[in-house]
Amino acid sequence: MENNCFNMTKLCPDADNTLGTVCIFGTGDFGRSLGLRLLQAGYSVVFGSRNPQNSSLLPKGAQVLSHVEAAQTSRVIFIAVHRENYEFLSAFSQELAGKVLVDISNNLMKNQYPESNAEYLAKLLPQANVVKAFNTVSAWALQSGSLDASRQVFVCGDNSESKQMVMDIARSLGLTALDQGSLLAAKELENYPLQLFPLWRLPIYIATGLTAAVFIYCVLTDIVYTFVTEGKDNSYRIVISIANRVCPIVSLIMLSLCYLPGVIAAILQLYNGTKYKRFPDWLDKWMLCRKQLGLVALAFAFLHVLYSLVIPIRYYVRQRQNIYIISQVKDNKTLTFDSTMSWRSDSFYSLGILGFSLYILLGITSLPSVSNMVNWREFRFVQSKLGHITLLLCTAHTLVYGWNKFLYVSRYKWYLPPAYVLSLIVPCIVLVLKLILITPCVDRVITRIRQGWERKSVHVPHDTSGQPLVL
Ligand code: NAP
Repeated sequence: MENNCFNMTKLCPDADNTLGTVCIFGTGDFGRSLGLRLLQAGYSVVFGSRNPQNSSLLPKGAQVLSHVEAAQTSRVIFIAVHRENYEFLSAFSQELAGKVLVDISNNLMKNQYPESNAEYLAKLLPQANVVKAFNTVSAWALQSGSLDASRQVFVCGDNSESKQMVMDIARSLGLTALDQGSLLAAKELENYPLQLFPLWRLPIYIATGLTAAVFIYCVLTDIVYTFVTEGKDNSYRIVISIANRVCPIVSLIMLSLCYLPGVIAAILQLYNGTKYKRFPDWLDKWMLCRKQLGLVALAFAFLHVLYSLVIPIRYYVRQRQNIYIISQVKDNKTLTFDSTMSWRSDSFYSLGILGFSLYILLGITSLPSVSNMVNWREFRFVQSKLGHITLLLCTAHTLVYGWNKFLYVSRYKWYLPPAYVLSLIVPCIVLVLKLILITPCVDRVITRIRQGWERKSVHVPHDTSGQPLVL
């Protein structure tokens, strides 16, 4: 029976008090899962299928009709069919005129077709109102109800009334509908599920590159050097000693890389005298993946903690201690207590523990469930102020570890500085620049610039040789 609620933004409630009837073309995975959710939410569901008699596994309570019959039962029709098969719809364009067609389709590759699937559908059926939605929600998530990860439904379309109807349906399924504008946005929505960790790519590349470089450096200066100069094979050190050197170095460098773009941005704003000039693309991309950089850095810090915890039970360590104690007994010597050494080792551990605790706090506050609970000022306090303090503590932890080792020529194997020295370069640069930026005179200018103030440069004309022209 024809539904005569065509001019209303809401679906017409049925006589049996359901929220109204929704039609789904296609009885495949997505169609069935969506049908089940709609039935659970209180809608009547009518499927349009090529073989209404042979359709099986459909949710209980749903009706299956031919496409033409099904189209007449509802104003909203979900097209749960692959784009490659859309042609069949043009055969009954008359029946679909004025209907809200929800395009949920995805492609196998980004930018697979010149126009988006939704625009293609709109071209095929110019008298229908096409809305792109639900393509970022999986059939599995719909059916299992575990929608936590994909609760958002992006909606776009040229007809606002139709968009509103689809958004209402999404909300009544317990989803968050987000209006993305006109149908022009459909291409972006279709590319969205095909992205593969876009913000994690740069941090993973940096982590892999740094790990490989530091590992090679450490193997060269520790294992190869000893083998070449002393003929001793201490390759067993690769498994824990070298790993426990690589992890903190990569972690500290990556933590400092989280704060370096902020410092560069502030310097650029100072240089330009305005905040209204766009940052270079590379800086924009870098700033966007700071959270991921920090989380990868935290993972390396965790590994460092775990590797450090097993040090006392290592065979190599116990053996060295035994040999040392036996030699003391043999020589009848007693080691005198070195108070400076005690200060140094306790400070080293304490700085590490404090740095790691704040590191974890930063990681926790970057989780959306936590960051959504704090306001912008609180978030900035944790991520910027506590973040820089974490960097300071971890840098101090490394400095105390190295102490005066860099002064001894014997530490420079093949003229290469000890690995810990390399790990301090970027963090020290970031901390020194940050220190300059927070000095009152510089900070005042940056704050003004960030509030919209612009430094108006007086343009002095120059002649061809670059000399200022005196008027
Ligand atoms: P599917 O399991 O292959 O189902 C597609 C349905 O389309 C079939 O069951 C069939 O239904 C109908 N169909 C097949 N060939 C047809 C033709 N030549 N003419 C007319 N109808 C035809 O696919 P699906 O996984 O449900 O996906 C459907 C759409 O949802 C796709 O565009 C996909 O990109 C999108 N999507 C899927 C998911 C997911 O998790 N599966 C997530 C987001 C978006 P009848 O036999 O009843 O006619």
